[in-house]
Amino acid sequence: MSMTGATKLAGVMGWPVSHSRSPQLHGHWLERYGIDGAYVPLAVAPDRLETALRALPCLGFQGCNLTLPHKSAAAALVDSLSASARRIGAVNTVVVSPDGELAGDNTDGYGFLQNIKHAAHEWRAKAGPALVVGAGGAARAVLAALLDDGVPEVRLANRTAEKADELAEALGDARVVPIPWTDRHDATAGTSLLVNTTSLGMAGQPVLDLSLADLPPEAVVTDLVYTPLMTTLLSDATARGNPVVDGLGMLLHQARPGFAAWFGVEPEVDMALRQAVLAD
Ligand code: NAP
Repeated sequence: MSMTGATKLAGVMGWPVSHSRSPQLHGHWLERYGIDGAYVPLAVAPDRLETALRALPCLGFQGCNLTLPHKSAAAALVDSLSASARRIGAVNTVVVSPDGELAGDNTDGYGFLQNIKHAAHEWRAKAGPALVVGAGGAARAVLAALLDDGVPEVRLANRTAEKADELAEALGDARVVPIPWTDRHDATAGTSLLVNTTSLGMAGQPVLDLSLADLPPEAVVTDLVYTPLMTTLLSDATARGNPVVDGLGMLLHQARPGFAAWFGVEPEVDMALRQAVLAD
């Protein structure tokens, strides 16, 4: 579809931005729904983030996504924050309002929950305790989503104990229980959900060292890492019969609210989308 002055624009700001799969993702939806729109990668250096965000209204952009390293910085730069963006302290989706104000949202937790619910239909956060491994930016979104969805307890194991303590304190919810890194193997006992939010298991990184011996057989195992799609954690869990959910779906689902706000269509996550995003 050729572009005109009426073409609706959105994009992703990152530094670097070339690794982002969001252009393929949104590009697939634009084509599928026959929308006169474009979604472009925007390489924005950290010291230019404010200028770039403020330029969105005058360039006619509907909004943008933010990826590393901009998510936290953007939270301090937009005009308003959704409840989840405030709670997570980071923005991954900006919507330009008709009067040119920038509304910041965080859809990572939404994408995380939607991904599990689509892939493992029986799973409910209320079903039992969760073990979350890692306490970085992604973990914060995962914890907030699990708490909002009614999880009775979240065990939080992080290599650097202070970061787990800080995250638990920031969330201010007694259901978050930091546990020592060395206790992570035992902490799988009695859980309904196991989540890897560390970068361990990613191509080029060491694998996550976690014994699944005590993990209940019905516990859902999910990994935020999606390169490779089948991490060692997920293949070990599959081998012992646990249901597993890969991390690609979180990326796909977190993109839905932004697309709907910018382009006016509620997009579907399906196999064709997965294939389009995995294609290159
Ligand atoms: P981050 O803020 O940098 O946090 C990294 C986490 O990994 C920390 O908990 C860190 O522990 C831990 N870690 C790193 N190396 C480790 C090691 N050698 N041993 C033990 N722990 C280690 O990163 P993030 O933004 O949260 O992202 C984490 C992962 O999630 C990345 O792989 C990212 O690609 C993925 N992610 C996926 C999606 C999705 O849509 N699927 C969305 C967001 C993020 P310390 O605190 O001890 O350093």
